[in-house]
Amino acid sequence: MGICVIGSLNMDLVVRVKEIPKKGETVIGKDFSTVPGGKGANQAVAASRLGAKTFMIGKVGDDSFAKNLKESLSSSNVDIKGLQEEKNLPTGVALISVDEHGGNSIIVAPGANFEMRKEDIDKNMSLIEDSKIVVLQHEIPIETVSYALAAAKSKGKITVLNPAPADEVSLEALKGLDFIIPNEHELETLCKQKITDEKSMIEGAKSLIEKGVKNVIITLGEKGCLHVTASESINYDAFKVVAVDTTAAGDSFIGGFCANYLKTGDIKAAIVFGQKTAALSVTKYGAQSSIPTIEEFEEFWR
Ligand code: ATP
Repeated sequence: MGICVIGSLNMDLVVRVKEIPKKGETVIGKDFSTVPGGKGANQAVAASRLGAKTFMIGKVGDDSFAKNLKESLSSSNVDIKGLQEEKNLPTGVALISVDEHGGNSIIVAPGANFEMRKEDIDKNMSLIEDSKIVVLQHEIPIETVSYALAAAKSKGKITVLNPAPADEVSLEALKGLDFIIPNEHELETLCKQKITDEKSMIEGAKSLIEKGVKNVIITLGEKGCLHVTASESINYDAFKVVAVDTTAAGDSFIGGFCANYLKTGDIKAAIVFGQKTAALSVTKYGAQSSIPTIEEFEEFWR
């Protein structure tokens, strides 16, 4: 039994710049590259490269980006029979600028991703049934996310929600959710309160736990992450590396976390593994181009 990722696929169009342009400003960039991405696809690639049997359910258009995205998933051993091509719709794209310090700014044009409907979940129910962990994000319609989570819970699966990009989540989606993995900004949106320090972060996480979430893991970039449950909150420092591009750090964390949790069933070990995966990914450029294989992971952390 493996991991089923239900979510987005985007082609990332990436330009490296000295400074990210402000409103009304034009800047000359350095190099340009097209890199397979999309939060769903990145998380599937990460889980699979780190050794988990992984299925992906999602939608692409009928264009050359779709072909490249499928090839990228297949070459990472992700099972893509849950992918569907939408005629007359573009594949999702993300316009990404990366500055000299590894910071980024991103615009997503979702295209086919926003055509993911409840029927598409029903059509692929056998892939959910064949998985132990089901993972979702917010780059497909929110109603479909809630529906898929409910379906996975009804089948007794371990459910993981990365609520990115930030959006509100229905009470129904939170009830019985095993893991929610937001960053600070996404946590603010979820619990509708300002997060200013660790105290307010824990309060925000607890408000989600009161609504039925079992584990809240807040990712904090180079500061690591905070794991909050009903009974405790534990800080994890990030691993120190030289960051060149943080694109897909969150996705690498989630893919690594899920792959290790599938194998060990140990949350603490899985958080450490997720953080090591993410730290390694920020040392390289791009989304899927930066996600390590299990061999690269073991070599780096030897
Ligand atoms: P993104 O949207 O860019 O993928 P995110 O906001 O979802 O990122 P972050 O909180 O930035 O996610 O990062 C996720 C995890 O990646 C962190 O918890 C940390 O373990 C690791 N990480 C991120 N940035 C760094 C860094 N500069 N050095 C080491 N580890 C990092």
